[in-house]
Amino acid sequence: MGNFQYDITVIGSGPGGYVAAIRCAQLGFKTAIIEKYNALGGTCLNVGCIPSKALLDSSEHFFNAQHNFKTHGINLSDLKVDMNQMIERKNQVVNQTVEGVRFLMKKNKITVYHGIASFENANTLLITKNDGSTETITSDKIIIATGSKPSSIPGVEIDKKRIITSTEALNLKEVPKSMIVIGGGVIGLEMGSVFARLGSKIQVIEYTDSLIPAMDHDLGKEIQKVLTKELSFEFYFKHKVTAAIVKEKKAIVTALNPDNQEVLFEADYVLVAVGRKPYTEGLGLEKVGIKLDNRGRIEVNDALQTNVPNIYAIGDVVRGAMLAHKASEEGIYLAEKLAGQKPHINYLLIPNVVYTWPEVAGVGYTEKELQEKNIPYKKGKFDFRNLGRSRASMDLDGFVKILAHKETDEILGMHIIGPRAADLIAEAVVAMEFRASAEDLAIFSHAHPTFAEAIKEAALDATAKRALHM
Ligand SMILES: Cc1cc2nc3c(=O)[nH]c(=O)nc-3n(C[C@H](O)[C@H](O)[C@H](O)COP(=O)(O)OP(=O)(O)OC[C@H]3O[C@@H](n4cnc5c(N)ncnc54)[C@H](O)[C@@H]3O)c2cc1C
Repeated sequence: MGNFQYDITVIGSGPGGYVAAIRCAQLGFKTAIIEKYNALGGTCLNVGCIPSKALLDSSEHFFNAQHNFKTHGINLSDLKVDMNQMIERKNQVVNQTVEGVRFLMKKNKITVYHGIASFENANTLLITKNDGSTETITSDKIIIATGSKPSSIPGVEIDKKRIITSTEALNLKEVPKSMIVIGGGVIGLEMGSVFARLGSKIQVIEYTDSLIPAMDHDLGKEIQKVLTKELSFEFYFKHKVTAAIVKEKKAIVTALNPDNQEVLFEADYVLVAVGRKPYTEGLGLEKVGIKLDNRGRIEVNDALQTNVPNIYAIGDVVRGAMLAHKASEEGIYLAEKLAGQKPHINYLLIPNVVYTWPEVAGVGYTEKELQEKNIPYKKGKFDFRNLGRSRASMDLDGFVKILAHKETDEILGMHIIGPRAADLIAEAVVAMEFRASAEDLAIFSHAHPTFAEAIKEAALDATAKRALHM
């Protein structure tokens, strides 16, 4: 490429950006990455996937010690939460992971710049560092991977003290007595679970009539049942939040109920978990004329190319699911495409996961989507409670649901709520990438006793109602 300092420069070091940079370097491109913060890793590693899973694990241990150990014959007394230690362990997990990314940058000879990148022209980026100094670099191709930020709704101003987002919730040094969660999506349910397990009363206010609406409807119904039963969650559906204020260390939320009457909720904290918005501020996109769509996302074509031919965009800042593995897949796809290879991404087979307990995971078409598309399908379902493995670990809630084409038997969707669903869904992805039939999964051996046996049983049920253990 030659005329520029770098062949490829990536803006943003989240799972989209840093993975794209590694793959570009592996393919022989002279690569640079620019990150605004001192820590690499983006939302996912610093204030998203990794810290939330660290706290989900810690809180799950506490909940089990408090509620389930006795049944296992383990008696504990004087059980307490040490919130400072819990947060400290979470921070260590984050730091180790972030340092891992720095090591990978060095190993792959990727030049790392810290500062805010903004376009001077299509090949020139100005980097403004924390101390105000600036540096200019040039690059043949530029990949924007600037991710997303929490969004809010009209009337709800995030003060980061009582009215908070997931970022602040991940650093709370006390267990709130009560927390209102605005939004029944993934982040609301995961963070709500953390605090409910530690003893907080959780009230979820949701605008629509169901939880995790992007996933198969049955999963939302089941997780609602389990969170109500196990963690005493209270759910308020079809409620439109109109305001949130703080009054003497209490947060008060006003909402319109389904009858359009105003109702008030009060709690120690309000967690605003209504989604995330693409982050493009400070990039100077207007200088190069990069187009945004009507939701503020950078517009890209199928090759992830913007309307400026040498500038590309991936991850949360473009259309599609806001998921770390989707961002990474796009990073790899793009690097390989720029190297002249013929990569592919099957967006239908990017799994969705919620790390509640039980976990929730789905891939492929939901039942509603199949009905809307008029695709004839059959269904197989198997409850985890029928498995010896589930009884052994006291993980009885949930099921595997397989949707297969009515005539060809090809698997079109798999939806799991149950123990280790986040890991189990990988079997569905592999099967569906190879266009397996339900019969294929039904005849393959699954080790006993494992949670994966529920997949085989659901596949048997889908093929000819041949499930063995129900
Ligand atoms: C609480 C929470 C839990 C989550 N859990 C999961 C999960 O379990 N699984 C999952 O798949 N997804 C999860 N997500 C979503 C996941 O974090 C995102 O989908 C993912 O981080 C998107 O990656 P990205 O690379 O597109 O952007 P990001 O990770 O957002 O990274 C973008 C980076 O760009 C930097 N940047 C922005 N502008 C500039 C600029 N002008 N100059 C330089 N740098 C800039 C930012 O500082 C940031 O570091 C979670 C999110 C949250 C908030």
